[in-house]
Amino acid sequence: ATRSSAELIRAEDTALAHNYHPLPVVVARAEGVWVSDVEGRRYLDMLAGYSALNFGHRHPALIEAAHRQLDQLTLTSRAFHNDRLAGFAEGLAELTGLDMTLPMNTGAEAVESAVKVARKWAYEVKGVARDRATVVVAADNFHGRTTTIVGFSTDEVAREGFGPFAPGFRVVPYNDLPALEAAVDETTAAVLIEPIQGEAGVVIPDDGYLAGVRDLTRRANALFIADEIQSGLGRTGATLAVEHERVLPDVLLLGKALGGGIVPVSAVVARREVLGVLGPGQHGSTFGGNPLAAAVGSAVLDLLRTGEYQRRAAELGEVLDAGLAALAGRGVVGHRSRGLWAGVDIDPAIGTGREISERLMAEGVLVKDTHGSTIRLAPPLTITREELTWALARLAAVLSA
Ligand code: PLP
Repeated sequence: ATRSSAELIRAEDTALAHNYHPLPVVVARAEGVWVSDVEGRRYLDMLAGYSALNFGHRHPALIEAAHRQLDQLTLTSRAFHNDRLAGFAEGLAELTGLDMTLPMNTGAEAVESAVKVARKWAYEVKGVARDRATVVVAADNFHGRTTTIVGFSTDEVAREGFGPFAPGFRVVPYNDLPALEAAVDETTAAVLIEPIQGEAGVVIPDDGYLAGVRDLTRRANALFIADEIQSGLGRTGATLAVEHERVLPDVLLLGKALGGGIVPVSAVVARREVLGVLGPGQHGSTFGGNPLAAAVGSAVLDLLRTGEYQRRAAELGEVLDAGLAALAGRGVVGHRSRGLWAGVDIDPAIGTGREISERLMAEGVLVKDTHGSTIRLAPPLTITREELTWALARLAAVLSA
């Protein structure tokens, strides 16, 4: 017999590690922006897998690419070549304006890989003394969950109990160019930042910050690594969030939506001088660059090439921003948005982010809180104006209840 949502939640509670606190919804099916639970209740997905589902659930072109590839070849490892990887890497170069790709699987792996590459570049190209390379990161960053990455997090919950941590990182306040300038020196291999800090609550830096980071890193002969794992691939109304300041980093990190919501696909995309430091045996991944990932990733790049999703995010982003502005003083104490991506600070008197998320769930809208009383809205870029307006009306209803 199939189990009910309540039974499945109880079973998960026993059989799974408790490193998440999911909303009490058990999703069983999905299409586009809509998901259905075990009992057949429908919800509008306003989280979109933390932006892994930018093209919606089961986009027909992506599902077709996956099916086609499943019938041909799924895995070779990189001990051999496969016939899908070259085209995927060429597509990434065309999309980003950078030269080369290092294919990985998850976001955290892409970040770890970029740190390795930046250090090696510092020793071999920049001339930093052995084992002295530093990487400058921003406070309130979110780059993943591995030991090195949580070591330079400023979130105590993410760090506590997981030390000792890797040395070689310097933390500066986000959106603060003088602080960055003071932290960068002859040991700096790279500055690693999110162009918009997603998990921090969709924190958007001032105009000029990214251009300033570009200018500063160029002058200091340090790499600019932009973590676009959440901000990239259409979310902000441009292919990349750095485009809003017409900036090209030395290294771009992509993930999440690159796998179309089907398979984990991430990539370190960089100039030849940077990724060129890697030789055989110095880095790798059994699944990185597998033909199924490359086929789905290539289909994602085809969708992005049309410009349709970036355009939708930009246009509907205005609807989202106006809708949230209209809630100012009516339960919303602040909001930040770019494209179809918003952080909304709820009046704590009305409820925590978690409580608001639960009430929205009861109204048929799925969102996720970040810190305290902030919720984040990031629907699939395929959402219609009517669906978006409906979701905003549900939020208004919850806030005024
Ligand atoms: N970098 C950023 C900016 C992210 O938002 C995330 C995930 O939320 C990651 C890295 C880590 O990605 P993953 O969960 O695939 O390891």
